Amino acid sequence: MIDLHTHSYHSDGLDSPTELVQNAKAAGVSVLGICDHDSVAGWEEAANAARANQLGLIFGIEVSTHSINSLGRRISVHVLAYLPDPGFTPLMQALARTRESRITRAQRMTEALAQDYPISWEEVLEELEPGATIGRPALADALVRKGIVPNRSAAFESILSSKSKYYISEHSINTAEAVKLIRQAGGVPIMAHPLTDFPGKDPADLPKAEFLALIEAGIAGFEVDHRMVPPMPRKWLRELAFEKDLIVTGSSDYHGVGGKENRLGENSTSSEMLEKIIQQASGYEPLL
Ligand code: AMP
Ligand code: FE
Ligand code: FE
Ligand code: ZN
Repeated sequence: MIDLHTHSYHSDGLDSPTELVQNAKAAGVSVLGICDHDSVAGWEEAANAARANQLGLIFGIEVSTHSINSLGRRISVHVLAYLPDPGFTPLMQALARTRESRITRAQRMTEALAQDYPISWEEVLEELEPGATIGRPALADALVRKGIVPNRSAAFESILSSKSKYYISEHSINTAEAVKLIRQAGGVPIMAHPLTDFPGKDPADLPKAEFLALIEAGIAGFEVDHRMVPPMPRKWLRELAFEKDLIVTGSSDYHGVGGKENRLGENSTSSEMLEKIIQQASGYEPLL
């Protein structure tokens, strides 16, 4: 069982890297990918735990990026970077800028929420591991602790939704630029949970030109099997990947029990596809 997309408390997961590895082992995972948002802070501890537990480990990052869609709207796109060189400064600087912007943005969202709810920036920070990449889940945890919402999901369905008046987006790198940077770092860029916003039935509505442009930029594949990707896009992505000889993966996007409903190993990647990722990577050695 190969699960290549999970989070620790170095971003918005609830487990320490050691707990993440232990929980993966217990769930029957044989190769785990640790992909915290915009951060490599969990890699070292995860590596030690993986050695101790004899678990395979693929080092990754879930890179926040943005694109402009055909309607001219800014959309958020997550790109998984597998096995990039953590010493490649241009990529690490881009991640540092995104983490900084995430702090400012979370602070501004908290201030907006504080107009209407009893919540403070200090209370949000208490929910976060020092140095962790901050996201809306930290705000959600503070709202839960204050009894304003019952759980993270309820927060995301209401006042933390991207359609909420309190919502602000973070600054991040352009998607195609991120793909190129990840390749320059020797990493393998795979689009995380693509097309989650396309529940419609007509494949003609899918943004084919945008996908072809990302393939041109060097995207290596798509995370097709993910609970948020609807059936029609899955089929379309699988066909596109086959036609262009790209990689398809499946993963849980686990954030800890209580962090999200996603459970370790609920989706998996074939060993053939993992092999392709490793073959294309030149930035960092996996632990196998
Ligand atoms: P942000 O990146 O700060 O905009 O927040 C989005 C993050 O929140 C994603 O990385 C998800 O992991 C997490 N998230 C989204 N929806 C939910 C949910 N319903 N429950 C828990 N976490 C969520
Ligand atoms: Fe997340
Ligand atoms: Fe994501
Ligand atoms: Zn994720």
